[in-house]
Amino acid sequence: MPDLFIDGEWRSAAAGSTREIRCPADGSLVAVVDEADGTDTVDAITAARRAFDDGPWPRTTAQDRGDLLLRVAGLLLRDKAAMARAESLDTGKRLVESEYDIDDVANCFRYFGRLAAAEDGRVVDTGRPEVDSRVVYEPVGVCALITPWNYPLLQTAWKVAPALAAGNTFVLKPSELTPHTAIHLMRLLTEAGLPAGAGNLVLGAGPQAGAPLGDHPDVDLVSFTGGLQTGRHLMAVAAPTVKKVALELGGKNPNIVFADADFETAVDMALTAVFLHSGQVCSAGARLLVEDSLHDRFVDEVVRRAREIRMGGPFDERAQTGPLISAAHRAKVEACVEQGVKEGAILRCGGERPSDPALDQGFYYPPTVLDECSAGMSVVQEESFGPVLTVERFTDEAEAVRLANGTIYGLAGAVWTRDEGRAARVAAALRLGTVWINDYHPYVPQAEWGGFKQSGFGRELGPAGLAEYREPKHIWRNTAPAPQGWFS
Ligand code: NAD
Repeated sequence: MPDLFIDGEWRSAAAGSTREIRCPADGSLVAVVDEADGTDTVDAITAARRAFDDGPWPRTTAQDRGDLLLRVAGLLLRDKAAMARAESLDTGKRLVESEYDIDDVANCFRYFGRLAAAEDGRVVDTGRPEVDSRVVYEPVGVCALITPWNYPLLQTAWKVAPALAAGNTFVLKPSELTPHTAIHLMRLLTEAGLPAGAGNLVLGAGPQAGAPLGDHPDVDLVSFTGGLQTGRHLMAVAAPTVKKVALELGGKNPNIVFADADFETAVDMALTAVFLHSGQVCSAGARLLVEDSLHDRFVDEVVRRAREIRMGGPFDERAQTGPLISAAHRAKVEACVEQGVKEGAILRCGGERPSDPALDQGFYYPPTVLDECSAGMSVVQEESFGPVLTVERFTDEAEAVRLANGTIYGLAGAVWTRDEGRAARVAAALRLGTVWINDYHPYVPQAEWGGFKQSGFGRELGPAGLAEYREPKHIWRNTAPAPQGWFS
């Protein structure tokens, strides 16, 4: 069956190109999918434009749009087992993590389904009785939604659900490495009743299939989650047509541990912060900042436990973490670690591919700890997006904050302390979109997600996540028009 979904129909790529999708855990062939180029993408944009300008979806009531999203949430849970399996085969991540992800995806559709129906404009008091004045919310138009491979369906849901809630039409381009749950989602949207052309799917490499999404004049908004370089490029190519651009980019997230922290929990969560999904998490706590007096005991324990983390494929129930997404990504992570060691970091564990023959065919890389790092090192400044923890020491609160804020990124991070005053001061001083106090990684769809500084701009989730996809329009109605006599 063809894999591109354009104007309500499944199609093969115009040029007949295909791509093999292989599981990163063992290199096995998952499927061969159609690979779009710019021609297919322009067709998809044209369909989305027509559906926006003339089709029913933008004219559907907010209540009906909300109902559709709630139906999709139900269908996702119906198909959870198949979707989680597909996500794990594409990404190599543990099945249990994919199952959590599908629950989160359904929650996201449910949240925006309810929000769509709840928020419907407001009356403005002008103080003039002859004037009716109100603000209504209108969809932005045709949205280009571009997503990465680490949380394929979750990142997609964070865009598709609010875009549809607001009445937009869209062209979705998931990562070329992880297309399957996006294909399944398009089937569910159709089953739930989304009209033809309102949702379109193209698969393929960024510079080819993705190119028109950044610069085509019929695209009104580009919402992108991915790497910093791609984000900069999209911002530049979107400029000539003044598209709205929302960027969710990388992070180099600080996890700050003071000496008075709950030791057991802080160690446990320092491991979760950075090694969950092999560090392929935008909010990964990849920089451990630890108070000098606690450093030796804390890092010894982190290293001891990092060495014990079991790697394995998605269906290996003993595995605690999986492979990296690709050979190229593993090579990038290896280069980061080598550079760190060259710059003077002390390799405390990991740093070498596993010798276990059972892991030979996958792109595995072990949990790695680089100790005695300093702010100027590239391994501290640049995102590795792998299972690599750098450790820096600090002596007081001011130094902790200065180090934590000392990168170009500002996505997320945490502070661990029993001192409530200090926790509040540090949280306020951190230039991060999300700060956890005595916790790491949780999020809720009700609260916005997004970055400060070069981690991007615009927000996903929460009411501001919906606001990204709507234009407030002020309508002023003078019920008693009369000459004003300015020039008489
Ligand atoms: P990437 O930038 O390589 O690719 C992301 C998407 O952009 C893919 O679909 C890709 O095909 C597409 N793309 C690439 N070049 C393009 C072009 N010229 N035109 C249009 N589309 C193009 O990123 P990745 O490697 O897939 O993802 C990893 C990155 O994503 C990390 O930096 C991570 O921090 C970031 N990320 C951020 C968040 C967040 O919420 N801030 C969440 C997840 C991932």
